[in-house]
Amino acid sequence: CGIIGILGKHQVSPQLVEALKRLEYRGYDSAGVATVDGAGQLDRRRAVGKLVNLSDRLVHEPLEGQSGIGHTRWATHGPATETNAHPHKRGPVAVVHNGIIENFRELRAELAAAGLVPESDTDTETVAMLTAQAMADGIGPVEAARATLGRLHGAFALAFLFDGHPDLMVIARKGSPLAIGHGEGEMFAGSDAIALAPFTHRITYLEDGDHAVLTRAGVEIFDKDGRRANRDMARIDVGA
Ligand code: GLU
Repeated sequence: CGIIGILGKHQVSPQLVEALKRLEYRGYDSAGVATVDGAGQLDRRRAVGKLVNLSDRLVHEPLEGQSGIGHTRWATHGPATETNAHPHKRGPVAVVHNGIIENFRELRAELAAAGLVPESDTDTETVAMLTAQAMADGIGPVEAARATLGRLHGAFALAFLFDGHPDLMVIARKGSPLAIGHGEGEMFAGSDAIALAPFTHRITYLEDGDHAVLTRAGVEIFDKDGRRANRDMARIDVGA
Protein backbone atom coordinates (compact mmCIF):
# COMPACT_ATOMS: atom_id res chain seq x y z
CA CYS A 1 0.00 0.00 0.00
CA GLY A 2 2.76 2.47 0.96
CA ILE A 3 6.42 2.27 -0.10
CA ILE A 4 9.49 4.19 1.04
CA GLY A 5 13.14 3.61 0.12
CA ILE A 6 16.17 5.56 1.36
CA LEU A 7 19.87 5.51 0.49
CA GLY A 8 20.82 7.99 3.17
CA LYS A 9 23.54 9.33 5.38
CA HIS A 10 21.87 8.87 8.76
CA GLN A 11 20.49 5.90 10.64
CA VAL A 12 17.64 5.06 8.33
CA SER A 13 15.11 3.05 10.34
CA PRO A 14 13.65 6.11 12.19
CA GLN A 15 13.43 7.90 8.83
CA LEU A 16 11.64 4.95 7.27
CA VAL A 17 9.08 4.88 10.08
CA GLU A 18 8.60 8.65 9.84
CA ALA A 19 7.90 8.34 6.11
CA LEU A 20 5.50 5.44 6.67
CA LYS A 21 3.59 7.58 9.21
CA ARG A 22 2.98 10.08 6.43
CA LEU A 23 1.40 7.29 4.38
CA GLU A 24 -0.86 6.10 7.21
CA TYR A 25 -3.81 8.02 5.77
CA ARG A 26 -3.98 5.40 3.00
CA GLY A 27 -4.80 2.66 5.51
CA TYR A 28 -2.81 -0.50 6.27
CA ASP A 29 -2.89 -3.68 8.35
CA SER A 30 0.82 -4.29 9.01
CA ALA A 31 4.19 -2.69 8.37
CA GLY A 32 7.87 -3.44 8.11
CA VAL A 33 11.35 -2.18 7.28
CA ALA A 34 14.58 -3.73 5.98
CA THR A 35 18.03 -2.16 6.14
CA VAL A 36 21.54 -2.89 4.94
CA ASP A 37 24.06 -2.04 7.68
CA GLY A 38 27.67 -0.83 7.46
CA ALA A 39 28.91 -4.40 7.11
CA GLY A 40 26.54 -4.89 4.19
CA GLN A 41 24.15 -7.13 6.10
CA LEU A 42 20.47 -7.12 5.12
CA ASP A 43 17.96 -7.57 7.94
CA ARG A 44 14.31 -6.70 8.58
CA ARG A 45 11.63 -6.13 11.24
CA ARG A 46 7.89 -6.44 10.73
CA ALA A 47 4.80 -6.05 12.89
CA VAL A 48 1.05 -6.48 12.52
CA GLY A 49 -1.21 -3.51 13.26
CA LYS A 50 -0.29 0.09 13.89
CA LEU A 51 3.11 1.58 13.12
CA VAL A 52 3.72 1.98 16.85
CA ASN A 53 4.02 -1.82 17.02
CA LEU A 54 6.82 -1.65 14.46
CA SER A 55 8.58 1.25 16.19
CA ASP A 56 8.30 -0.60 19.55
CA ARG A 57 9.86 -3.65 17.91
CA LEU A 58 12.69 -1.46 16.59
CA VAL A 59 13.35 -0.11 20.10
CA HIS A 60 13.86 -3.64 21.43
CA GLU A 61 15.49 -5.04 18.31
CA PRO A 62 17.16 -2.09 16.55
CA LEU A 63 18.13 -2.19 12.90
CA GLU A 64 21.39 -0.49 11.99
CA GLY A 65 22.14 0.94 8.59
CA GLN A 66 21.85 3.98 6.35
CA SER A 67 20.09 2.18 3.49
CA GLY A 68 16.57 0.83 3.80
CA ILE A 69 13.10 0.14 2.46
CA GLY A 70 9.77 0.26 4.29
CA HIS A 71 6.17 -0.71 3.65
CA THR A 72 2.67 -0.42 4.98
CA ARG A 73 0.62 -3.37 3.75
CA TRP A 74 -3.00 -3.58 2.70
CA ALA A 75 -3.33 -7.33 2.29
CA THR A 76 -4.60 -8.73 -0.99
CA HIS A 77 -3.02 -12.22 -0.84
CA GLY A 78 -2.92 -13.80 2.61
CA PRO A 79 -4.09 -12.52 6.00
CA ALA A 80 -2.48 -9.70 7.97
CA THR A 81 0.22 -11.68 9.78
CA GLU A 82 3.86 -10.91 10.49
CA THR A 83 4.91 -13.63 8.03
CA ASN A 84 2.88 -12.00 5.26
CA ALA A 85 4.07 -8.48 6.07
CA HIS A 86 6.65 -6.83 3.83
CA PRO A 87 9.58 -6.57 3.28
CA HIS A 88 9.77 -10.11 1.91
CA LYS A 89 13.30 -11.46 2.12
CA ARG A 90 14.75 -14.43 0.30
CA GLY A 91 18.49 -15.00 0.27
CA PRO A 92 20.20 -11.68 -0.47
CA VAL A 93 17.03 -9.92 -1.67
CA ALA A 94 14.41 -7.85 0.18
CA VAL A 95 11.33 -6.53 -1.62
CA VAL A 96 8.42 -4.23 -0.82
CA HIS A 97 5.44 -4.18 -3.15
CA ASN A 98 2.19 -2.33 -3.78
CA GLY A 99 -0.40 -3.96 -5.97
CA ILE A 100 -0.90 -7.49 -7.26
CA ILE A 101 1.31 -9.95 -9.20
CA GLU A 102 -1.38 -11.66 -11.24
CA ASN A 103 0.70 -14.62 -12.44
CA PHE A 104 2.22 -15.44 -9.05
CA ARG A 105 0.65 -18.91 -8.97
CA GLU A 106 2.41 -19.95 -12.19
CA LEU A 107 5.67 -18.44 -10.96
CA ARG A 108 5.26 -20.23 -7.64
CA ALA A 109 4.67 -23.54 -9.38
CA GLU A 110 7.86 -23.04 -11.36
CA LEU A 111 9.80 -22.23 -8.18
CA ALA A 112 8.29 -25.27 -6.47
CA ALA A 113 9.55 -27.45 -9.32
CA ALA A 114 13.03 -26.11 -8.50
CA GLY A 115 12.48 -27.08 -4.85
CA LEU A 116 11.81 -23.54 -3.61
CA VAL A 117 9.03 -23.26 -1.05
CA PRO A 118 7.39 -19.96 -0.08
CA GLU A 119 7.28 -18.90 3.56
CA SER A 120 4.27 -16.58 3.15
CA ASP A 121 0.90 -16.57 1.38
CA THR A 122 1.75 -13.44 -0.60
CA ASP A 123 2.19 -12.82 -4.29
CA THR A 124 5.07 -10.51 -3.33
CA GLU A 125 7.39 -13.18 -1.96
CA THR A 126 7.53 -14.71 -5.44
CA VAL A 127 9.34 -11.56 -6.62
CA ALA A 128 12.02 -11.98 -3.94
CA MET A 129 12.29 -15.71 -4.67
CA LEU A 130 12.78 -15.27 -8.42
CA THR A 131 15.40 -12.56 -7.88
CA ALA A 132 17.26 -14.61 -5.26
CA GLN A 133 17.18 -17.62 -7.58
CA ALA A 134 18.75 -15.57 -10.41
CA MET A 135 21.43 -14.29 -8.03
CA ALA A 136 22.14 -17.83 -6.89
CA ASP A 137 22.81 -18.59 -10.57
CA GLY A 138 25.54 -15.91 -10.47
CA ILE A 139 23.60 -13.00 -11.95
CA GLY A 140 24.22 -9.54 -10.42
CA PRO A 141 21.49 -7.81 -8.41
CA VAL A 142 20.38 -5.29 -11.06
CA GLU A 143 20.20 -7.89 -13.83
CA ALA A 144 18.47 -10.33 -11.49
CA ALA A 145 15.81 -7.75 -10.59
CA ARG A 146 15.41 -6.91 -14.29
CA ALA A 147 14.98 -10.56 -15.23
CA THR A 148 12.30 -10.87 -12.55
CA LEU A 149 10.47 -7.71 -13.67
CA GLY A 150 10.25 -9.15 -17.17
CA ARG A 151 8.28 -12.08 -15.81
CA LEU A 152 5.66 -10.21 -13.78
CA HIS A 153 2.09 -9.61 -14.88
CA GLY A 154 -0.21 -7.26 -13.02
CA ALA A 155 -0.05 -3.85 -11.44
CA PHE A 156 2.77 -3.06 -9.09
CA ALA A 157 5.25 -0.70 -7.56
CA LEU A 158 8.36 -2.44 -6.23
CA ALA A 159 11.53 -1.56 -4.37
CA PHE A 160 14.44 -4.02 -4.03
CA LEU A 161 17.34 -3.92 -1.56
CA PHE A 162 20.30 -6.33 -1.62
CA ASP A 163 22.57 -7.89 0.99
CA GLY A 164 26.17 -6.77 0.46
CA HIS A 165 25.06 -3.72 -1.58
CA PRO A 166 24.54 -0.75 0.78
CA ASP A 167 24.60 1.75 -2.11
CA LEU A 168 22.00 0.18 -4.41
CA MET A 169 18.24 0.16 -4.73
CA VAL A 170 16.19 -0.97 -7.73
CA ILE A 171 12.63 0.30 -8.14
CA ALA A 172 9.93 -0.37 -10.73
CA ARG A 173 6.44 0.82 -11.53
CA LYS A 174 3.66 -0.64 -13.61
CA GLY A 175 0.19 0.65 -12.86
CA SER A 176 1.02 1.84 -9.33
CA PRO A 177 2.61 5.25 -8.67
CA LEU A 178 6.26 5.57 -7.66
CA ALA A 179 8.46 8.64 -7.31
CA ILE A 180 12.18 9.27 -6.88
CA GLY A 181 13.34 11.96 -4.45
CA HIS A 182 16.73 13.56 -5.12
CA GLY A 183 18.79 14.54 -2.07
CA GLU A 184 22.33 15.84 -1.57
CA GLY A 185 24.37 12.65 -1.58
CA GLU A 186 21.18 10.80 -0.69
CA MET A 187 18.48 9.20 -2.81
CA PHE A 188 14.87 8.40 -1.96
CA ALA A 189 11.93 6.52 -3.45
CA GLY A 190 8.30 6.61 -2.43
CA SER A 191 4.85 5.63 -3.54
CA ASP A 192 3.75 9.19 -2.78
CA ALA A 193 5.64 12.52 -2.75
CA ILE A 194 4.10 13.15 0.67
CA ALA A 195 6.30 10.39 2.09
CA LEU A 196 9.39 12.11 0.65
CA ALA A 197 8.54 15.65 1.82
CA PRO A 198 10.67 15.51 5.03
CA PHE A 199 13.73 14.63 2.95
CA THR A 200 13.48 16.43 -0.40
CA HIS A 201 11.10 18.34 -2.66
CA ARG A 202 12.98 17.46 -5.85
CA ILE A 203 10.85 14.70 -7.34
CA THR A 204 10.91 12.58 -10.50
CA TYR A 205 7.84 10.47 -11.20
CA LEU A 206 8.47 7.18 -12.96
CA GLU A 207 6.29 6.51 -15.99
CA ASP A 208 4.39 3.30 -16.45
CA GLY A 209 6.71 0.38 -17.21
CA ASP A 210 9.83 2.22 -15.99
CA HIS A 211 12.41 0.82 -13.66
CA ALA A 212 15.31 2.69 -12.08
CA VAL A 213 18.68 1.91 -10.54
CA LEU A 214 19.42 4.20 -7.60
CA THR A 215 22.69 4.95 -5.82
CA ARG A 216 23.48 7.91 -3.56
CA ALA A 217 25.30 9.55 -6.47
CA GLY A 218 22.59 9.28 -9.10
CA VAL A 219 19.72 7.56 -10.84
CA GLU A 220 19.43 5.71 -14.12
CA ILE A 221 15.91 5.30 -15.44
CA PHE A 222 14.92 2.73 -18.05
CA ASP A 223 11.66 2.53 -19.99
CA LYS A 224 9.46 -0.52 -20.59
CA ASP A 225 11.75 -1.64 -23.44
CA GLY A 226 14.84 -1.39 -21.24
CA ARG A 227 16.11 1.77 -22.96
CA ARG A 228 17.65 4.64 -20.98
CA ALA A 229 14.97 7.25 -20.40
CA ASN A 230 14.96 10.87 -19.29
CA ARG A 231 12.21 11.86 -16.89
CA ASP A 232 11.73 15.41 -15.68
CA MET A 233 12.56 16.47 -12.16
CA ALA A 234 10.11 18.92 -10.60
CA ARG A 235 9.86 20.81 -7.34
CA ILE A 236 6.86 19.40 -5.53
CA ASP A 237 5.65 21.11 -2.36
CA VAL A 238 3.25 18.85 -0.54
CA GLY A 239 3.89 20.24 2.92
CA ALA A 240 6.97 19.86 5.11
N1 GLU B 1 -0.33 -7.99 -2.87
C1 GLU B 1 0.58 -7.67 -1.81
C2 GLU B 1 0.20 -8.37 -0.53
O1 GLU B 1 -0.90 -8.79 -0.35
C3 GLU B 1 0.73 -6.15 -1.59
C4 GLU B 1 -0.48 -5.46 -1.03
C5 GLU B 1 -0.30 -3.95 -0.86
O2 GLU B 1 -0.40 -3.23 -1.88
O3 GLU B 1 -0.05 -3.49 0.27
O4 GLU B 1 1.01 -8.53 0.32
